[in-house]
This record gives sequence, C-alpha cells and structure tokens, in this order.
Amino acid sequence: MNVKPKVLIVDDRVKNIIVLEEMLADLDIELVRATSGLEAIEKANKTEFALVLMDVRMPGMDGFETVEKIRKDPLNELIPIIYITAFYNEDYYRVKGIKTGAVDFITKPIIPDILIGKVTVFMKIYKQRKNLEEEIVWREQIEKDLKKAKNLAEDATRAKQKFLSTMSHEIRTPLNAIINTVNLLREEEPRADQMESIDILKFSADNLMQIVNDILDYSKIDAGRIEFEKVEFELRKLLTGIKHSFDYEVNRRSLKLEILIDENIPPVVQGDSTRLTQILINLVGNAVKFTEKGTITIEAKPISEHDGQIDIGFFIIDTGIGIPKDMIGMIFESFTQASSSTTRKYGGTGLGLAITQKLVEMQGGEIKVESKEGKGSTFSFSLPFVISDKTFVEDDAFQKTSFHSLKGLRVLVVEDNLVNQKIVSKYLSKWETQIDIADNGKIAVDMVAKNHYDVVLMDLHMPEMSGYEATLKIRAMKDDYYQDLPIIALTASVFLEDREKIFQFGMTGFITKPFNPKELFWTISPFLKKR
Ligand code: ADP
Repeated sequence: MNVKPKVLIVDDRVKNIIVLEEMLADLDIELVRATSGLEAIEKANKTEFALVLMDVRMPGMDGFETVEKIRKDPLNELIPIIYITAFYNEDYYRVKGIKTGAVDFITKPIIPDILIGKVTVFMKIYKQRKNLEEEIVWREQIEKDLKKAKNLAEDATRAKQKFLSTMSHEIRTPLNAIINTVNLLREEEPRADQMESIDILKFSADNLMQIVNDILDYSKIDAGRIEFEKVEFELRKLLTGIKHSFDYEVNRRSLKLEILIDENIPPVVQGDSTRLTQILINLVGNAVKFTEKGTITIEAKPISEHDGQIDIGFFIIDTGIGIPKDMIGMIFESFTQASSSTTRKYGGTGLGLAITQKLVEMQGGEIKVESKEGKGSTFSFSLPFVISDKTFVEDDAFQKTSFHSLKGLRVLVVEDNLVNQKIVSKYLSKWETQIDIADNGKIAVDMVAKNHYDVVLMDLHMPEMSGYEATLKIRAMKDDYYQDLPIIALTASVFLEDREKIFQFGMTGFITKPFNPKELFWTISPFLKKR
C-alpha cells in the first residue's frame, strides 16, 4: 500500500495542533487539521482517516459530541479516536469518552514518546486492515474469475457432449443401415467369394460402430456423467448370453469358449447388469480377438461375503498372443494398443480397456492383468453385488421365447429413414407379421387412431412430429387401448438419461439401433400372446 495514512487533528487552538504536528513529524503519515467540531465532521465525511486525535474541550461542539456525529457515518463507525484531555483522571470524562467509542486517552501535558508510540500502533493496525481489505478484493476477483472459468469449462463440456451425441446420432443412423444390410446379406446365402467381401464389410462397420460407441462412452465417463443401475439379474444367464453373442466368431475360428461358475454364487444378485455385460463383452471380445487357437475361459467365483453383499471375482483367461511385458502397464491407458500393427490386424481403438477399467473402479472394484507373450493373458476384476434371496428373475422374455413365426402380429413401424424402414420390414415380414409404416409421428398418430395394432416401433427423431410427441398424443387418446398399446422406442442413444426419457414419455420399452434381430424378435413376440 503506497498511500500515506491520514491522521485528523482536532483542536480549537492552532497552537496546540502545531505542537502535535511537530511531535509526529517523523512518522510516515499525512496530518490534516480541523479547528472546530463542524470542520472535523465535514473532513471526516469526505476523507478516510486512519486515526483522529480529538481535543475534548472546544467552544460550541465539544469533542464528545463531534465524535458521536462523526461515527454516525457508517464508514466512520469504527474509526479509532484518541482524546487529548487534561481531565483523563476524572471518572465523568472517562465514562463519557468510552461511551462515544474512544479507543484511548492521552493526557496533557503530552509526553512525545507516548503519543508517537500510540499513533504508531494505530498506523500499523490501519495498514494491516488496508492490506486485508485489498486481499479480500483480490480474492473476490479471483473467485469471480474462477467462477467464470468454471462456467466456461462447463459450457464447453456441455457443448462437447451435445456435439458428440448429435454426431454419434448422425453417424450411427447410416451406420445402422450398413450393419443391418450386411446382416441381411449374410442371411441370403451369398457365394463364398461374396461372403468374403461381406465379412470385410461387416468387420469394418462393426469396428466403426465400436469406435463411435467407445468415444461416446469414454467422453461420458470422462465428464463424470455416468450412473449405475441396481437391478436383479441371474448371473448364469448373463454369462450364457455373453457366450452366445460370441458363438459365431468362436465357431468360425474353431476356438473354444467355456464358462465356469462357482456353485456358491447365488442364482440372483443385484447390480448393474448392463455395465457388467459391457465390461465382460470388452474383455471377452479382446480375448477372442487376440487368440488364434485354443480356449477362452470365463470364470466367476465368490471372493468374499459380508452383510448381504458378495464380491464376485471374474477371470477371463485366454491362450492367445499375450502382451509384451513392457506394454502391460500401458494397455489401460486410452488410445493405447500393445503394438502399432494391432489396429491394422485386429481393429479397435485402444479405448476398450480404459473404459472397462473406469467402469470397474467406479463401482468399487479393481482390474488386473497377467500375461505371457505367446502363451496367453488373464484379465481379472472383482465387483460387489447385493445378494438376492430369489432363485430366478421373472418376466425375462429375452430368455423364454424361442424363435418362431409371429403370424398375426400387427406392427406399426414409425421411422422416417427409408433404409431403416426397409430393414425392419424385411425382418418383420420374415416372421410373418402384418406391417404398416408411418413416415413420421403425425402419420403414426392418425394410423393408430384408425387401425388396431399389437405393437408400435417408434423412432424418436423424425421431422414433422417426434416419437416422443406422437407417444404423448397416443397416450392422451380416450380408450384403454391407447394407454395399453405397447410402444417400443427405436433409439441410437446409449445415454441412461435418454433411456429414462423414453419411459417418462410413456413408452413401454426400447430397442437400441443397430437393432439385433434377436432382440427385436424377443421384444415384440410377447405381444402376440396378449390377444
Ligand atoms: P482395443 O482392443 O480396441 O485395441 P483395448 O483398450 O481393449 O483396445 O486394448 C488395448 C490393447 O491391449 C490391445 O490393442 C491389445 O494390444 C492389448 N490387449 C488387450 N486384451 C488383450 C488380450 N486378451 N490378449 C492380448 N492383448 C490384449
């Protein structure tokens, strides 16, 4: 602080003021004179003083009254005052002085050292207060800047998230069409040479979809915007489902994939089955990908049990190419692969393990790897689950229904994308359902009002009227039929909140795009039986 502190000297006799000024001449302060109470009040209102040296006895307004008035100004409420008086020892003055807020008294005749000592102390206090005030202003500024930076960062994150979800939707829509068309082509018994091209197409499209999903997932985890569900599920069924999803690849490459589940694992547990599936698909997917011949084993066994909770250890063991020692520490980092030829040969982004590790750790688990080059790798992790006393989970249409004709099932497909329309219809007609198509939500609402359907497959983003709005309109119609009509959303979004929104708008369920034909079948087939 560079400005000199100011001290106001109030005395009706200039001679006295001069004496004080001489005594204080060596201090680094600015002295201001006032020769009456009125003048003192006026000056104190205009200027900030570090201290006032106040004569008590003055004609007209005395020192006490002057101080009372000075202190009425909120800015001067706490201004330190030292009374200069010959009557210090008289109780009357002492009490009155203290009542007006005097901080100190100096009796006449003044001893210079005492005056200088006291004024010096007050100047120090004043300087400290000023420094504190400056620091507060400085800190407030920093706080403001931080808030601004935080808001900017949050805006940027939101923009990034929005950009990613829009882009992924835009990319996934045509990609869905490619993947579904490739799937259809494979079922039309192509020639062997055509099959080879189709396989390349499938490999690349699946890989691209994986990349898009991985990037989305990673950005979501990175932004800390991930929630875990708690649902009851049968671990045995979940593992069997995962095994089956690799059937094609495992058979094609003459590998073996086996599951070992310890008999002490309860039949039903509670946890996030979707994320567990994602973790396992990633690890088993890698094991299958990086194994040329031999066996991949998925093992699950209890690690510990306490207070109705069980920690289950999962081991994914392969007899594949293994990971070089110097790379083991790095494979969990994002965008890292063990060798630069990995992408070319096996595809992938190097994001899978980074995502997997975060998904495990965020649920209170830990993931480890042991590997020998040329011999194989074992990835293991443990996760806590709540033990359920159920022996099975009801209403698991996915497991119960077998593949059969859905003759007689009346389906309305609401989808604006022509290619998607074609693909869905192709499967639906294969299962002998009766299909109508609506190009947007508005047409769908009209058609639902005029016809009777067993199930509606509803795309969400469409021109004219979205799937959300159309569902609201249908649910608002009078008649139980409109409330009970199963409406299944077709969504490309992997976000939990988008899925929650689907239910908030009154839809019955959802199928993610690119849809798995089996999932589509299992989702809509129960509605055949309802009639
Ligand atoms: P991606 O599989 O997309 O390349 P990941 O993060 O899943 O990315 O894996 C990173 C790298 O770790 C892989 O590229 C591979 O080099 C190595 N890796 C992962 N799992 C295995 C495994 N089971 N056997 C051999 N190498 C593996």
